[in-house]
Amino acid sequence: MSGTALDPRTAPTFPMAAKAMLGDTQLRKNVRHATDVIQAKRARVVGEMPDWQELREAGRQIRQHTMEHLDFYLEEFEANCTRAGGVVHWAKDAEEARQIIVRLVKSSGADEVIKIKSMTTEEIQLNSALEAAGIHPYETDLAELIIQLGQDQPSHIVVPALHKNRQQIREIFQRTMNLPNLGERPQDLADAARMFLREKFLRVKTGVSGANFLIAETGGVCVVESEGNGRMCLTLPETLITVAGIDKVVPRFADLEVLLQLLPRSATGERMNPYNSIWTGVHERDGVFDGPKAFHVVLMDNARTEILADEEGRQTLNCIRCGACQNACPVYRQTGGHAYGSVYAGPIGAILTPQLQEMHHAQSLPYASSLCGACYEVCPVKINIPEVLIHLRNRVVKQNTAGVAGFFDVEAGAMKAMGMIFKSERRFRAAQRLGRMAETPLVRKDGQGVGWIGWLPGMLGGWTQVRDLQEMPKETFRDWWETRGKDGR
Ligand code: SF4
Repeated sequence: MSGTALDPRTAPTFPMAAKAMLGDTQLRKNVRHATDVIQAKRARVVGEMPDWQELREAGRQIRQHTMEHLDFYLEEFEANCTRAGGVVHWAKDAEEARQIIVRLVKSSGADEVIKIKSMTTEEIQLNSALEAAGIHPYETDLAELIIQLGQDQPSHIVVPALHKNRQQIREIFQRTMNLPNLGERPQDLADAARMFLREKFLRVKTGVSGANFLIAETGGVCVVESEGNGRMCLTLPETLITVAGIDKVVPRFADLEVLLQLLPRSATGERMNPYNSIWTGVHERDGVFDGPKAFHVVLMDNARTEILADEEGRQTLNCIRCGACQNACPVYRQTGGHAYGSVYAGPIGAILTPQLQEMHHAQSLPYASSLCGACYEVCPVKINIPEVLIHLRNRVVKQNTAGVAGFFDVEAGAMKAMGMIFKSERRFRAAQRLGRMAETPLVRKDGQGVGWIGWLPGMLGGWTQVRDLQEMPKETFRDWWETRGKDGR
């Protein structure tokens, strides 16, 4: 039932995919309308917070501190979760996470699961693995359900069906739920989803969830949502399996005071999420369980430790998945999310996907930005996305030119030599003397060159196409000052 998962390893490059999306006027209209509405709501609720910038700074500090001590807080989370009756599993990559989850579902005796907050499960393409093992997954978030029934792919991390309008959703529900007379009012669509899901909530005994935050101090897991489906998934099943990236941990319960102000305002323009669920381990009294009888947490790395090791790229892990950067991005607003070839679209996708996947498979994404800075301005934890984009572009160039004796090696060598010269006054003066010895400028073929080197042959011509190396002045300012200037001559 689930659509083909987005896979950056096989997806077309961003320019190719974007070209196709730009031709879909309905999709562009839907994306523009939805992002306009969310942005206006966000601006309203952010505008009423006089200390918004201080909150952002507090959020940034919490996330940065966490990343600096990630190993400590993960172990603290494991100890406290285990003490409360949970079982913690560690997965080094997507494959291991899939295997653990499939094994846990099978050992619970289930052949179907209900799911909530499943962007991380999209990242690891869990639904395909479950189906291959004969386990049927039911998405319960309304937008995820639309995507699943429509055999589509998510296009936004908070509003996965943002690219669909009401008429399109009605058509999917009519077809897949056998409701030919379904209306298209939001209430009609929500009622249809409720009827479809309620029976699953009551019948299915195993739940799979993602997480917004893992609280090290208590071993608790936090999920925020707007529909109440999460609360059902977290409390009704007998077995609950939570899968989360290791970056989701926060040190203290009190940190939620900051993060739960930043997240809903940035994500959906709400002051607070209607449902904030925090659960810790397993609770049983006199043989009666309050919530699941078995609780598992799969802590997944999947390249996050590599990102952490990269000094410039590591701020990517501070992300709290609010989607505000997507709504603000002029590129995303034109192309929608599918062009990014990954569950993480928009500016956060442009920096996260190339780092999660090998850069080879996603190297067009760091260029999917005008570097206008709108993403940085709205990010509730102040991730400098343009800075990371430039860093990743640099990596793309280095990767593509590694070991190639070509133009980039020559340019890199020339820059290194210039660096050496500028570091030493003696070398700098010697270079000036040498430069003045050259007499004839190299002019471009079109005769337009105005500098000392206006044209170079072959591959090197790419450099001089838009640059001239200016002719060395016969006398430098320093020469003038030492011979005549300081005496006022
Ligand atoms: S990068 Fe910032 S704005 Fe974008 S999703 Fe993450 S937290 Fe939100």
